[in-house]
Amino acid sequence: MVATLTDRIAAVQEQIAQAAQRVGRSAESVTLIAVSKTHAPDVIAAAYDAGLRHFGENRSDELAAKAAALTGLPDLRWHFIGTLQSRQTQAVADHADVFHAVDRLKIARRLSRQLEEAGRTLPVFVEVNVSGEGSKSGFSAERWEDDADQRAALHDVCATIADLPRIELRGLMTMAPWDAPEATLRSVFRRTRALADWLRQAVPQGDWSALSMGMSDDFTLAIEEGATHVRVGRAIFGERVY
Ligand SMILES: *Cc1c(COP(=O)(O)O)cnc(C)c1O
Repeated sequence: MVATLTDRIAAVQEQIAQAAQRVGRSAESVTLIAVSKTHAPDVIAAAYDAGLRHFGENRSDELAAKAAALTGLPDLRWHFIGTLQSRQTQAVADHADVFHAVDRLKIARRLSRQLEEAGRTLPVFVEVNVSGEGSKSGFSAERWEDDADQRAALHDVCATIADLPRIELRGLMTMAPWDAPEATLRSVFRRTRALADWLRQAVPQGDWSALSMGMSDDFTLAIEEGATHVRVGRAIFGERVY
């Protein structure tokens, strides 16, 4: 028997609840973001009907098109989770409810200006690269515990972002390496959480309470290590077309 979308959503929600329970947290402390990139608006509408409200996109043109196609669904929240180029910030300023991947000051500054014009505010996560993998975007944080210069750079960039008008800091986002052993994944998540704890002291004008980490293959580990937002695509929608 082929699992339906509703079955897969229920299975992911059950795994979230169990992972949270293992570490004494409530299921409600975790926001499930269904990563709907490449999937059509009618598939998103079906997931919405099954109870999901948070959807993740990683291309600005796709976000704009889907937001336009699905304006009628109350409480639907768009999370932009991808790397953003300068010329693409307007779509995020116009349509995103949360932006997970601030990885350059220039992007944050542009968004801040465009949000001001649009009369909106935008909750954001600062993306950090704690694994040091070259393919990962995000501010360098692979040696943050031992390297005072890297820590100072992170401090300065986070303090600058925290002071930008219309940008509401919420916490850190990270991507774990592909196909890594469990111990490595846990270490990446744990070190990201520790960095957020450090930032809470170092940049107290920001809110560092949220942690966006964990995808289809590792979201239960991420929750055990403190994730408050998990970004799950394939486990809900199946394999992507591209
Ligand atoms: C695609 C994507 C995800 C979801 O990945 P799955 O493996 O399909 O769960 C999560 N985060 C980001 C930034 C992504 O681009």
